[in-house]
Amino acid sequence: RIVYVNGEFVPFEAATVSIMDRGFLFADGIYEVSAVLGGRLVDNEAHLARLDRSLGEIGIRNPYPTEEWIRLETELVRRNGVDEGLVYMQVTRGAFERDFAFPPAETEPTVVMFTQAKTVARNPLAERGAKVITVPDIRWKRRDIKSVALLAQVLAKQEAAKAGVAEAWMVEDGFVTEGSSSTAFIITGGKVVTRPLSTALLPGITRLAVMRLAEEAGLTIEERLFSVEEAFAAQEAFYTSASAFVMPVIDIDGHELGDGKPGALTKRLRALYLEMAGA
Ligand code: PMP
Repeated sequence: RIVYVNGEFVPFEAATVSIMDRGFLFADGIYEVSAVLGGRLVDNEAHLARLDRSLGEIGIRNPYPTEEWIRLETELVRRNGVDEGLVYMQVTRGAFERDFAFPPAETEPTVVMFTQAKTVARNPLAERGAKVITVPDIRWKRRDIKSVALLAQVLAKQEAAKAGVAEAWMVEDGFVTEGSSSTAFIITGGKVVTRPLSTALLPGITRLAVMRLAEEAGLTIEERLFSVEEAFAAQEAFYTSASAFVMPVIDIDGHELGDGKPGALTKRLRALYLEMAGA
């Protein structure tokens, strides 16, 4: 297994990062995940645009132009022979003697990339449909930044794991913000409903792609807040992410949706997304 660290492709076992790395000490860094399908990166330029935006929002210099990122990702996918899975990219503010304020401007950002082989298209969970639970959203107020500070999401996902379900939807003031690692959607009154973008949630790349596909398919999309109660009563629900694509939801906090099977519109959206991704 080959990974990428600070300008070099090295064997996984040989890859090291300083204990003074600010990603390790302060979670002072940004990450991205792109899916790989048939050896090709899915919607990757949108992920790289979000990476650049996230870095800019916290004042970390983007170490590479887009073309260089693409070259490195492609090379890593090739070297690892990944057919289906994902590429993980992380940039931190670098390693420097521990101090909260930024290190000197010349400090090099730390760049780490690795691939994971994973079944993303023919996912048995997508056939059955996923159950989700809801948890309070205890995160900070800049959730539009894809920061590596993921403790709240770690705790939310662990709650889901304990409950034997696939995902936790986070709730603030009675309204669903998003999943712990996904964007939440419901279908109610025949309309596809998802929360509008703001600092309260991550601008999902898959979210945008699915909204475009839904529009092209003639479905009505409503970007508005929806409550937990509205979700319980929805006809269908699903969540989206680079690695889950469109994941049907069949149960929320023990409230079965529809007939307890993936909904027809959700299945259609998943099929459209898979087609777009080149499955
Ligand atoms: N929200 C959160 C909190 C996430 O971690 C993710 C996955 N990274 C998403 C939404 C989905 O984003 P994307 O479709 O860009 O993977």
